[in-house]
Amino acid sequence: MRTAVIADIHSNLEALQSVLERIRELAVDEIVCLGDIVGYNADPNACMELVRSARIDCVLGNHDVAAAGLAEPDRFTSHARAALSWTREHLSTENLQFLASLPYEKNLRGLFLFHGSVHNVNRYMLSRRDAESNFLLLDGMPEKPRIGFFGHTHEPAVLTDAYGSEQARGMVSLCDTPARRYFINPGSVGQPRDGNPRAAFLVYDGQAQQITFYRAEYDVKACQDKIRKAGLPETLAERLERGR
Ligand code: ZN
Repeated sequence: MRTAVIADIHSNLEALQSVLERIRELAVDEIVCLGDIVGYNADPNACMELVRSARIDCVLGNHDVAAAGLAEPDRFTSHARAALSWTREHLSTENLQFLASLPYEKNLRGLFLFHGSVHNVNRYMLSRRDAESNFLLLDGMPEKPRIGFFGHTHEPAVLTDAYGSEQARGMVSLCDTPARRYFINPGSVGQPRDGNPRAAFLVYDGQAQQITFYRAEYDVKACQDKIRKAGLPETLAERLERGR
């Protein structure tokens, strides 16, 4: 089974289209999304319709939670908050209802899908140290998932409970030892923050126990034009070309 893993689309239609095109060429068996379909950029409805028509299995991100009105965005920056109000005004009722129906996390055949941290959609998981307390939460689950996929930081990452760290690029072979656990972040489709402006995603090969990180070029300028036309904060347009 080969699973494409995407996250943090953030209403960037050009990036999402480019990533889905590349994923189609890779002929995977399924696509999952780790949350934040909306927020920041200017195409929330078109992105949601693409996600729904491609039958992408999704969990909620913190921006989705706020857009769906499930919680108030108390820890958002002013730019994120401005984009969120705009998103709430523009999302169709059908798409709002779809967002509100999504789960916070999901166990998919031993793969644990979530947005920020285990049982906390808002908290960032940035280091191996952050990962340690989250591995304990996985241990407490009846299914004891060995691999967790997360987003939220917008940076590709491989966090393990082993010594040393794995590079989050190219192909990474996972150790087959049942005791070895991983948290893996594909990076962001619609607002990368690792200094590389290209849209990020990964493919997990369950049989080969391999992760391959990919980057896809997309029309950044077209996305920026839409952000400016919508009257969203200029910084949201500008950061896309820097990948920050
Ligand atoms: Zn995000």
